[in-house]
Amino acid sequence: MARIPRQPPPGVEIAPRAQGLSWLRGPAAIEDGWVTLRGGEIEQYQFEAHPGFLDDLVNVRRPEAIVRFVAAYGLLWEGQLDPDDFEWLSPMFRVREPVERWLSFVAELREIQRLYCLSQWALHRGEPHVIASLRKAAQEIVAFPAGEALVEVLSEAVAGFLSVLVTERIEENAARFLVGVSDTHGRYELLPAAATLAGHAWLQLAAQLLQHIELGECPACGRIFVLAPRQRYCSTRCATRQRVRRHRRRSEES
Ligand SMILES: [Zn+2]
Repeated sequence: MARIPRQPPPGVEIAPRAQGLSWLRGPAAIEDGWVTLRGGEIEQYQFEAHPGFLDDLVNVRRPEAIVRFVAAYGLLWEGQLDPDDFEWLSPMFRVREPVERWLSFVAELREIQRLYCLSQWALHRGEPHVIASLRKAAQEIVAFPAGEALVEVLSEAVAGFLSVLVTERIEENAARFLVGVSDTHGRYELLPAAATLAGHAWLQLAAQLLQHIELGECPACGRIFVLAPRQRYCSTRCATRQRVRRHRRRSEES
């Protein structure tokens, strides 16, 4: 996948980073509110954006999950937040990012997906409690007047808000789409290009919105996932767990 070559942070030699053309992933540690990638077991790899990446990221909700994510993909900004957090200890190095910043980053992605889910569900399924939640969200985020606005109008207001927000985030993260050609049949396609994984996350989110993918939040575990028709839970495991829970509740009541 095409990428913009990255600029290294000021004062950092680019050679050990393969001219900035690859990302670093490996064992990370959480300490004193920081997630740190350090040491010799770090791997350089070519990141290719794919929907599973965003799916894994939005489900990072606890510090331990950050460690798993960094092992699979790397840090979100890789030392570009503040050069002081990037240190070369030749031949090793250390780069760290605030855990707080990670969790609020993920929380914002999730919130956008949640609002997007709400408006999709309200439009396509029309369940009254979903429409009520959408109405409340529209009042909160875009100061939409209270009252009986049509679901289409509410949905349009929320979509307008989200489109502006996602555009801003893409710009802030110096990310963009390029027009490329796929390997087969010379078909044109949009290629994500970003200097950080954070930038890629915003591009993936934008792609998700553009493709009208229907998302759902699993009632059992809270995971956000791409919905298949008639699916409610993220996995058969969660569906079974919920069935067992319901069964237990019923037998306790009787
Ligand atoms: Zn689940």
